[in-house]
Amino acid sequence: MNSILSDRILNMEESATLAMAKKARELKSQGIDIIGLSLGEPDFKTPKHIQEAAKAAIDEGKYFSYPPVAGYQDLREAIAKKLREENNISEAKAENIVVSTGAKHSIANTFMCLINEGDEVVIFSPYWVSYAEIIKLAGGVPVLIEGTLENNFKATAEQLEAALTDKTKAIIYSSPCNPTGSVFSQSELEAIAEVVKKRENLVVIADEIYELINFTGKNFSIASLPGMFERTITVNGFSKGYAMTGWRVGYICAPLAIAKAVEKIQGQFTSGGTGIAQRAALAGIAGDQQPSKDMADAYFKRRAIVLELLQEIPGIKTHIPEGAFYFFPDVTAFFGKSAHGHTVKDADDLCLYLLDIANVSLVTGAAFGAPNCVRLSYAASEEELVEAMKRIKKALGELA
Ligand code: PMP
Ligand code: GLU
Repeated sequence: MNSILSDRILNMEESATLAMAKKARELKSQGIDIIGLSLGEPDFKTPKHIQEAAKAAIDEGKYFSYPPVAGYQDLREAIAKKLREENNISEAKAENIVVSTGAKHSIANTFMCLINEGDEVVIFSPYWVSYAEIIKLAGGVPVLIEGTLENNFKATAEQLEAALTDKTKAIIYSSPCNPTGSVFSQSELEAIAEVVKKRENLVVIADEIYELINFTGKNFSIASLPGMFERTITVNGFSKGYAMTGWRVGYICAPLAIAKAVEKIQGQFTSGGTGIAQRAALAGIAGDQQPSKDMADAYFKRRAIVLELLQEIPGIKTHIPEGAFYFFPDVTAFFGKSAHGHTVKDADDLCLYLLDIANVSLVTGAAFGAPNCVRLSYAASEEELVEAMKRIKKALGELA
């Protein structure tokens, strides 16, 4: 019998980040002392005032029914205000905001609304694992433009221009970037915007989910540039900056026609995002920002610790990430080497080797479009990071 499953799902790759996290969890449950540095997930608890807001919302008893599909009005207004005041996106209004069940859902909604069969989407690579699979699911064709270690993994406006064809519908990047931690400067985004504005019917999807974990001190939103509001879907959410991965709240800010389309698709697929989680998110965005700043300070400190330890490992080549909580070192020096019955042909093998021998989980760069690299998430305690780096150094040192 042919598979009962659709070609759509058979042609889709599993999320490598979640797959590695699942594997690490399974090994842990067998009693193996795994240090998980594979999942991009804050190790902090959601700030107390956000937890309290959720409890209060339950006690109020007003948020148990279907919420409005695009999100509660006061949350949409608070998001629009934040985008106007902090991101200088002066045109942002509540009507441009659609709240969804996580930024991943926002991105999926957006591509479903933009892409016709065969449309191309240019992805700045290395890129977050889910972009390409969502684009393909929507019938689109991902076109990668590649940044290299030498230019901090940032593909350029010139590369973008060269990749555009009559079929290009959208471009997407994350800044700060998952997996590289790189941050686009204002001038780099201005150059990208100039290329985009030369074309009709070309939009930017700017994934700013790591904006609160940015060590450059300067956040810049491409939608704030002249003429770019009408061409940009700004994606953001609460998972990273507010340590709210499990609450599942994300949003877009988009030109009205796109926001309406996203509301329409969400109305058919999932309805509005969870009511209580939206009340928590409102407390996050409108309340005390100090806990988010404290978490960013902790990541900054951990970055220094991991950087120093990584630089002590012969063969590892890394740049210094400017945001998010990832290192993305080049590990080609270990390809072709063997130890403990493992032969490391590529980054996938290296991750399996480190999982087996060092009991540390990382994610292969291949999943992010960069097969020479691995991704290490430093959203873990300092003790875990120091121990993980010790184990990694030892295991890599045994490869010959
Ligand atoms: N974009 C990027 C770049 C991410 O790393 C993630 C990871 N969670 C998401 C979007 C999705 O976030 P969430 O669905 O948890 O809001
Ligand atoms: N975005 C995180 C990561 O890259 C969480 C897992 C996922 O949603 O892919 O690890």
